[in-house]
Amino acid sequence: MSRIATTEKTQEYLERYINGVKKRNPGETEFHQAVYEVAQSIFPYIADKPHYHEQQIMERLAEPDRVISFRVCWADDNGNIRVNRGYRVQNNNAIGPYKGGIRFHPSVTQSVLKFLAFEQTFKNSLTGLPMGGGKGGADFNPKGKSDSEVMRFCQSFITELYRHIGEDTDIPAGDIGVGAREIGYMFGQYKRITNRFVGVLTGKGLEFGGSLIRTEATGYGTVYMLENMMQHAGNSVDGKTVAISGSGNVATYAAEKVIQLGGKVVTLSDSSGFVYDSEGIDTEKLAYVIDLKTVKRGRISVAAEEFPSMEFHEGKRPWAASVDVVLPCATQNEISTDDATKLLSNGLIAVSEGANMPTEIDAIKAFQAAGVLYAPSKAANAGGVAVSGLEMSQNSARISWSEDELQKLLSSTMKDIHDKCVQYGQGENGKVDYLAGANVAGFAKVADAMMAYGVV
Ligand code: NDP
Repeated sequence: MSRIATTEKTQEYLERYINGVKKRNPGETEFHQAVYEVAQSIFPYIADKPHYHEQQIMERLAEPDRVISFRVCWADDNGNIRVNRGYRVQNNNAIGPYKGGIRFHPSVTQSVLKFLAFEQTFKNSLTGLPMGGGKGGADFNPKGKSDSEVMRFCQSFITELYRHIGEDTDIPAGDIGVGAREIGYMFGQYKRITNRFVGVLTGKGLEFGGSLIRTEATGYGTVYMLENMMQHAGNSVDGKTVAISGSGNVATYAAEKVIQLGGKVVTLSDSSGFVYDSEGIDTEKLAYVIDLKTVKRGRISVAAEEFPSMEFHEGKRPWAASVDVVLPCATQNEISTDDATKLLSNGLIAVSEGANMPTEIDAIKAFQAAGVLYAPSKAANAGGVAVSGLEMSQNSARISWSEDELQKLLSSTMKDIHDKCVQYGQGENGKVDYLAGANVAGFAKVADAMMAYGVV
């Protein structure tokens, strides 16, 4: 029996708690889903720890410290005035300053950012570094915008956000739609307004305080987590066939690491569809895709026009492929229960989540019931924020660490995260529930810090 088994009474508390969260946050379905996913591991864990209940720790964790929402006005290239909505959700700073990315995508809402900030709190705790959880963004679509439009948007966004962030307060980074270009524009505007050169953003260019391997860290870390899980189960990535979704920062560097470890990547995707390559996407094809997506800002279908072995499947996700491993690296809720059933019938053995909350709750349950090795995003994609934490340290000390040192730190951090999941998630039958392990390990540190502060 798992050490964190659910009793009827615990289930009752859990349902009451979730109903309360739904009532206080109407219509915020992504936020409800994220809180439920965590709470179903935490309630069994705290069943015999009444102090957490008495101090309402779970209720306090599901109420962000603050949610800042603001207007972002900017002028497009034709002189039209455009209005977007910007946000920063500062969820919890019990163990360090708020830290988490900024997302620019039309699907951004308060619910999406609250779910991401909530998840980030546990993820940052898991890294072992002193970072609280936050997340921000705007419903701005950078696709099809000129560089000047993106620059004006970023400048307007930071002109409001700058007063809420700081190197010891809240340190944003990139996320969907926010890469090196956007971070550069935002850092430039922050410096201009405040006249301070400080580590207020991570993911910066190497010329102005960025860290080596930050770009690669999330994707590499996702595959390190996979390899650690496989090795723990007496297996390895070598020789496995892997389906990856997305073709952005996380997806492409996850693909690079799979190739380095001897795996065969057969898919990549974007919001228009996916490419399947029966011969495998090798380093040459991957370099083409990275240039296509980051420099030319083109669509993934163009890669299929370039390489005869690639087929483009319009409007579809890559989960019908027959593969050993799946790395969802695009967005939330991209693997449904039907997708999970199909993947399982095709012989899936492992999932490591590069994207945040990419798997629906029932699909996770299906994976776990089938004995698939399943690494949840808060563990599997923590490598990015871990290296961001190292960027903060380098900025504070005004030094730069070598690539070799940082590679070692990333790999050892992912091993530590894996081992924490095993410590908290291993049942008496030896099977590891990585979801419960990650949730409980992330929770324990934050909750104990909150207890130490009293009622604040
Ligand atoms: P990018 O913007 O670099 O890439 C996102 C990729 O996902 C693109 O290929 C994009 O396609 C695709 N995508 C986005 N939204 C959708 C959608 N609704 N449906 C289908 N495809 C979609 O983002 P990142 O690689 O940085 O982020 C990907 C995921 O990883 C996110 O969940 C993010 O929160 C998570 N993450 C990122 C970290 C980082 O360091 N960057 C750290 C930890 C987690 P298209 O080009 O068509 O938009």
